[in-house]
Amino acid sequence: MKYVQFNAVEKEISLLGLGVMRLPRLENGKADEKESINLIRYAIDRGINYIDTGYTYHGGDSERIIGKALKDGYRERALIADKLPIWLVEKKEDMQPIIEEQFKRLDVDFIDMYLIHNIVPEVWDNIRNFGVFEHLQKLKEEGRIGHIGFSFHGDYDLFTEVIDTYPWEYCQIQLNYLDKEIQAGLKGLEYARERGIDVIIMEPLKGGRLSDKIPPSVQAIWDRAKAAGICASERTPAEWAFRWVASQPGVSMILSGMSSVRQLDENIALFSQDDISLMSETEYAICDEAADEYNSKIKYQCTSCGYCKPCPQEVEISDVISYLNDWYAFDRIPSTMLEYNEWLDGPASGCIHCGACEEKCPQRLPISDIMTEAEEQFGK
Ligand code: SF4
Ligand code: SF4
Repeated sequence: MKYVQFNAVEKEISLLGLGVMRLPRLENGKADEKESINLIRYAIDRGINYIDTGYTYHGGDSERIIGKALKDGYRERALIADKLPIWLVEKKEDMQPIIEEQFKRLDVDFIDMYLIHNIVPEVWDNIRNFGVFEHLQKLKEEGRIGHIGFSFHGDYDLFTEVIDTYPWEYCQIQLNYLDKEIQAGLKGLEYARERGIDVIIMEPLKGGRLSDKIPPSVQAIWDRAKAAGICASERTPAEWAFRWVASQPGVSMILSGMSSVRQLDENIALFSQDDISLMSETEYAICDEAADEYNSKIKYQCTSCGYCKPCPQEVEISDVISYLNDWYAFDRIPSTMLEYNEWLDGPASGCIHCGACEEKCPQRLPISDIMTEAEEQFGK
């Protein structure tokens, strides 16, 4: 396993971190506690020392499961990263009870890495108005949390504003070879790097979409690269995606939501290779070709500009469209359905077809019809 030094953290951190939003599940959909504890301990035994969770992952079970997994001497061997679900904070007083619950669920008295979860425009004012920075700083001074950061899904302009507002120690952004220009994107990575802020990458495989059920036209690109000798040995699509992220200047570490021992073994072997962060220009060009091929399958060209907001029914229009596009482009991979149903607060079924959004959409998308289509595909 390769290790990296964070500016913020004294100890070396494994380049690959374990995200626990996709723990093994039972048939009833709940996290399989026994399997999950085994998986977390297996990861730590093989050198992963960064475990990332969140208040809402698996309905709170992921924090509880981590708490149990880190008994028996494992606590000292891994950093815990947990996050404040800022969208649940409606007033200043809401913060501390949530944080206390996290300590209780994790059964620890110290959280090494504490992030404000998912900064988007809707919560940015609240973060400043509710004194979130001051509150976290106080917890840090009291020795209850270690390093303060944020995870992010807004756009580049908001990202730069957030970065410039507080002396962050690190941040967490979504990045993969397909999403290099959405959200903070490569530009955001560079912006943080220039300011000496460590950047953790999430969704390097786009929730498994870049590694599972690969469309034949994309697989043909990977096969051609191998036949042309661009890579020395056989590479899985996941390996291409991980190598692309690991090679970006400014990437401090990479989180992956691994849910099986097989995935862990494959990824740990890859992240132990000396050249994991050394992608050539020719290899980048191959990844660009694959990205173009995926993009040609995108049905609705929503740019996530947000001009259609606000929807009176609080339908998360661009997110719904993004999931629907993924649903078709990635051959109806189950993780798209799972994320839509678990992570989206404003699904398409809330749409009352008032049409208010359509007149504001610069892409002239038939949003009302798209919402009907999404509801038919995803069931809500
Ligand atoms: S048409 Fe649907 S999605 Fe658009 S604003 Fe009206 S309720 Fe919201
Ligand atoms: S206005 Fe149109 S392009 Fe912009 S986010 Fe809304 S649906 Fe997408």
